[in-house]
Amino acid sequence: MKKIIVQKYGGSSLSTINKIKKVAQKIVNRFKEGEQVVVVVSAMGKETDRLLSLAHQISSSPDKREIDMLISTGEQVSIALLAMAIQQLGTEAISFTARHAGILTDEVHTKARLIEINSKKIEKALNSEKIVIVAGFQGINNHDEITTLGRGGSDLTAVALAIQLKTDLCEIYTDVDGVYTADPNLVTKAQRISEISYDEMSEMSVLGAQVMHHRAIDLARRFNLPILVKSTFRPVKGTIITKEVSMLENVIVRGVSYQKNVAKITLQGIKKNVDIACYLFEELAKKEIVIDTIVQDFYNQDTVTISFIVTEDDFITSLNIAKEVAGKIGVKEIHTNCKLAKVSIIGDGIAKEAGIASRMFRALSRAGIQMETINTSRIRISCLINQSDVEKAVNVIHDEFLLSQIEKE
Ligand code: ADP
Ligand code: ASP
Ligand code: MG
Repeated sequence: MKKIIVQKYGGSSLSTINKIKKVAQKIVNRFKEGEQVVVVVSAMGKETDRLLSLAHQISSSPDKREIDMLISTGEQVSIALLAMAIQQLGTEAISFTARHAGILTDEVHTKARLIEINSKKIEKALNSEKIVIVAGFQGINNHDEITTLGRGGSDLTAVALAIQLKTDLCEIYTDVDGVYTADPNLVTKAQRISEISYDEMSEMSVLGAQVMHHRAIDLARRFNLPILVKSTFRPVKGTIITKEVSMLENVIVRGVSYQKNVAKITLQGIKKNVDIACYLFEELAKKEIVIDTIVQDFYNQDTVTISFIVTEDDFITSLNIAKEVAGKIGVKEIHTNCKLAKVSIIGDGIAKEAGIASRMFRALSRAGIQMETINTSRIRISCLINQSDVEKAVNVIHDEFLLSQIEKE
């Protein structure tokens, strides 16, 4: 039996017809080596952003079913064009949307979760010597409605298909040479990491390293599927994301991540007896809003202040809910700041070593960067700062922990 390989090409690798043709040639070369090839693709270039901006020109909070209907079209364009480009090279290829590929999800529009993949149609096409091109990021729910998996979700499609088709690796092709100690487009001294553990990668992704979607990492970890992240066009080794990483012992901080679009909502002057925390967060949960950090403070005997952090995408909905709840229970003031960013350090060694947090805070303070909320876990420390300070912050923290010297191959 032939070996099946699953590859994923991101939007930046498919942003022009010329690049699509080059990717097609790469895929055909691989197919000719004798493997069965399944390719997952994202929308061309920044197409998903363009589609979303069209929607936001019509409404500030467009209907989520219609958003999915709209943004799933980006991937449909790229699967068809890539299939044509492969056919043009004399090799058979067929494009599949999520419906064809049997990718079933729950019903939550724009943040759907995978339920199962019925890959019969894919396997049939592979067995008839076709290269199969699958639209990433999209799914179909029980009511036959189109859903999407959340921004960057085609990584998740690729990992799920690799697991379903029992491959021993999932190959992710992108515009950088692998996973770096920080975003290489922001930190010139960032270094490529040759191997990274699922735990560290998941945390780096959750905290903003968009090179891989964190849900893709979490799924791969559950099935122990290694992921290779590599450049589409440059012949560089890339990064392996896996369970065991040989040189982990000596590394305290593995990388720095940042998220630019973070918003904070603060409700002040809430009467102490009111059970606002339950009430507010129940209402937010009903709208599938994921809260990042929650801080509750008692400033004096009678009143409480609650702050919580959400992504910019969820800001308007969250603020409307906060206002509604505030109206019902009597809140003195609501403050918002949607020009915030979160900068984080990640590393398996953080909890084992004293003084890591103070080094991070000192580096920020030396650079004149003010911190808002601070948040820590076993393998990370995060600080909220002003969006305009992000680039400086990531660079000074990267320097402080000498991340450019961690790995020299
Ligand atoms: P694709 O279109 O291939 O899915 P993405 O734009 O989603 O690509 O992810 C690649 C981008 O992730 C890079 O261009 C880079 O700017 C960004 N990035 C952020 N943090 C990191 C990191 N630690 N390592 C590598 N890339 C990173
Ligand atoms: N095209 C989608 C997005 O931009 C999915 C992806 O790129 O993985 O979010
Ligand atoms: Mg991506």
